[in-house]
Amino acid sequence: MQSTRIESRILEIRSLLPEGVELVAVSKFQPVDSILDAYKAGQRKFGESRVQELVEKIPLLPADIRWHFIGHLQTNKVRPLIGRVSMIESVDSIRLLDVIEAESGKADTKTEVLLQLHVALEETKFGFAEEELNDFVASNGFEKYPHIEFRGLMAMASNTDDEERVRCDFAKASEVFHRISDAVGQRLGGFNVLSMGMSGDWPLAVEEGATLIRVGSAIFGERNY
Ligand SMILES: *Cc1c(COP(=O)(O)O)cnc(C)c1O
Repeated sequence: MQSTRIESRILEIRSLLPEGVELVAVSKFQPVDSILDAYKAGQRKFGESRVQELVEKIPLLPADIRWHFIGHLQTNKVRPLIGRVSMIESVDSIRLLDVIEAESGKADTKTEVLLQLHVALEETKFGFAEEELNDFVASNGFEKYPHIEFRGLMAMASNTDDEERVRCDFAKASEVFHRISDAVGQRLGGFNVLSMGMSGDWPLAVEEGATLIRVGSAIFGERNY
């Protein structure tokens, strides 16, 4: 039975995670019933990558679900997410930060974000370059955003079977994360989330220090795009 399979996959992954590492179940393109199966297994954090899809799903599902937005986000799509998601993991530009700040201010709320760091080989992947983040930290960039809570970094490894390359990407993200966290973590009140690792590579990500993994197809099966 399908539901049993989703539930048991969730429980299995969770049983393999060390203390302090959390699972985001990536439910993009998955129907509400599958999400409810995961919910029955105690899963509360879910990841979605398209604004429209997320906004449609939210009212159909339990209110205590914590939604993480993980897809590339266009600035003109920010507004519907504010106050609805518990975290935007995929912040990849200053311009996007500016819009999240403005919309959060208007809604009189604070939005938790992760800064996406580009470590992969593929140029097509999104994210800040390491030097951009260094500049941002050095210039106290965080202070311009009173309605944003900077919680950590998100990264995606190169899309390759070469395990050493993937490990290297995660190790790089971990190094940058710890450097920023040591520099500003206290001041920010907890820059302590490192989101990395997907279905194919999360065990490596955990070995390299992930505190949050984002797993979709290994829970729900292949997606039908
Ligand atoms: C789709 C997606 C995932 C999950 O991918 P799977 O390989 O299905 O586990 C994780 N992170 C991001 C940013 C995604 O877009």
